Amino acid sequence: MATNMTPLFDIHNPEIPIVGESHSFPVRRVYCVGRNYAAHAREMGFDPDRDPPFFFCKPASAIVYCPPGEAVDCPYPVKTSNFHHEIELVVAIGSSGKDVPIAQANELIYGYGLGLDMTRRDLQISMRDIGRPWEIGKAFDNGAPLGQIYPRSTTGLIESGTIAVSVGGETRQNSNVTHLIWSIPEIISNLSTLFELQSGDIIYTGTPDGVGHVNAGEQLIGSMQGLADISITYG
Ligand code: MN
Repeated sequence: MATNMTPLFDIHNPEIPIVGESHSFPVRRVYCVGRNYAAHAREMGFDPDRDPPFFFCKPASAIVYCPPGEAVDCPYPVKTSNFHHEIELVVAIGSSGKDVPIAQANELIYGYGLGLDMTRRDLQISMRDIGRPWEIGKAFDNGAPLGQIYPRSTTGLIESGTIAVSVGGETRQNSNVTHLIWSIPEIISNLSTLFELQSGDIIYTGTPDGVGHVNAGEQLIGSMQGLADISITYG
């Protein structure tokens, strides 16, 4: 009998501005793809030919919106001495689907963004090595910076483009999304066999090689061909 109920707390999911639109993109669920660039899989000690990509989640509350032309400041995360950047192309889902064939998967894409899958690498690896979940390494507060959403109707399908991040002015990751092991439609199709995708879901599509530690006070600048830079400093 849940009629006329009012919530005990006032809770809002993050809403990300959409380029050229007056409405925002409300984030429902945040999925991330692991080891989806061969060179990054190798630097993490895995064989990219043998290990299929896999998925993990972050809470929507981990999103930090990074407006274009603005330097965002965040608290430095606790409990880590190996805090890593992972620059990633993000896909924003605009319509629902389950068991979506690869050939139709692009139809679920509302748009794209540029994000950072920030990682407490020491905690992630310590949990990984004893077969426990990764959440404490991945799903922490402010761990998912994200720039504005670019509608697919204006960008077209993004299947290539340089993607990079600098730390304190020094380039650390510099690759191209053509190097994705699993393409975006393959990711969407596979993920939709595990979860019914819904509008508002977003997918961090994986990071290229060159991940590394970020010290407190160092400015991260993420860039992707055709999208605005994102800038964030922790601590
Ligand atoms: Mn990642």
